[in-house]
Amino acid sequence: MNTTKSEQLFTKAQTLIPGGVNSPVRAFKAVGRHPFFVERAQGPWIIDEDGNKYVDYVCSWGPGILGHAHPKVIEAVQQVCAKGLTFGAPTAGEVELAELIGTCVPDVEMVRLVSSGTEAVMSAVRVARGFTGRDKIIKFAGSYHGHSDGLLVKAGSGLMTQSVPDSAGVPAGYAASTLTAVYNDEESVRSLMEENSGQVAAIVVEPVAANMGVVPPKEGFLEFLRRITKEQGSLLIFDEVITGFRLALGGASEYTGVHADLYTYGKIVGGGMPLAAYGGRRDIMSCVAPLGAVYQAGTLSGNPVAVTAGITTLKILMEDTGIYERIDRRAAKLEAAFQEKGLIVNRMGSLLSAFFIPGWDGKEGRELEKKKERKVENYDDACQCDREAFADYFNRMLERGIYVAPSQFEAMFVSDAHSDELIDKTCEAIWESVEEHQIL
Ligand SMILES: *Cc1c(COP(=O)(O)O)cnc(C)c1O
Repeated sequence: MNTTKSEQLFTKAQTLIPGGVNSPVRAFKAVGRHPFFVERAQGPWIIDEDGNKYVDYVCSWGPGILGHAHPKVIEAVQQVCAKGLTFGAPTAGEVELAELIGTCVPDVEMVRLVSSGTEAVMSAVRVARGFTGRDKIIKFAGSYHGHSDGLLVKAGSGLMTQSVPDSAGVPAGYAASTLTAVYNDEESVRSLMEENSGQVAAIVVEPVAANMGVVPPKEGFLEFLRRITKEQGSLLIFDEVITGFRLALGGASEYTGVHADLYTYGKIVGGGMPLAAYGGRRDIMSCVAPLGAVYQAGTLSGNPVAVTAGITTLKILMEDTGIYERIDRRAAKLEAAFQEKGLIVNRMGSLLSAFFIPGWDGKEGRELEKKKERKVENYDDACQCDREAFADYFNRMLERGIYVAPSQFEAMFVSDAHSDELIDKTCEAIWESVEEHQIL
């Protein structure tokens, strides 16, 4: 694999940009190599500056549910660009996107558009505090809700990958009002709620955790969160930045049937542009300025170009009703390929993770029985992974032209552009890549 241009760019980038990248996990540090620099991408393919071509299962970390550069999205964006890039004044598209989101998720009676998932969750938490008059929030270890100060506590994938448990520079006082529970563990939530009775503004949860690897909620867990927040006068916030428009048009709330008070969206909702959203119950969202007393603003919020990419993407998802069935079926094939190699796999819809947890011999299949009983249900379970084994697998996949996230703790994203043929090719690469190193 020729990597000359990417290496040159990375050398220069490191002198100009911290670590050479604009988001930490892009650095490929955890897999012991330097990143490739992308020249372009099309459908399921991503092509680097040296002309190497990969089947892409990162999909920009989630937005790319239609694959890259979908012709309809590109055309719509090109057309709207010609009319001007930003006005700082309302546009018709914002109303249309707000209406579309509400059509997909009826719980979202009012919505505010922002520019990143970080902003969306940060703002939803502020609204929950403003609405309830309480300060504390509960999040789950290993869940990522963006990099705002109060949410960077035991915060999942990027930090797990870099082995940074928490960030420097977060004042202790901020972190103090963030309580951390164990995902899928009702007792851990109940005791925090009791110890802090009357003080918890909200529980923030990824309804399907996807930043400690994919970890689905156990039967009844989300229902429990719904019940206890209601009982205690706290709000339930579903962070659907990954799961929104991915598990179903209505996200995890449609998929699981559990309804939150507030929702946050990002990734898919922007169709590949910097756009995110938070919304929910009308009485709660009425707290947001200029209607209410909770301040939140943004110069580029509801940017017309980003809004157009979002609208076009959501419309395609709404019109092509076969998409969710197709990506689910294809992800199930990948799941089966990993399982054949004896790996623990968590999957929900088109999101999946194979966990490289030691305890068996890949060649002989020894201890397979014991392993079968093992599950990844929370952050501690995920932490048992053998990161070197994962890195080995990552590199073997890349050599075979398959790009998966350079981290054990990220999801594999299946898009509608991944044809059955490419999925079969990927399954073969999985069989080869997992078998070869045999260190499990
Ligand atoms: C990616 C992500 C965020 C942060 O979104 P950004 O657009 O990267 O700021 C928040 N919550 C979840 C669940 C995410 O996966």
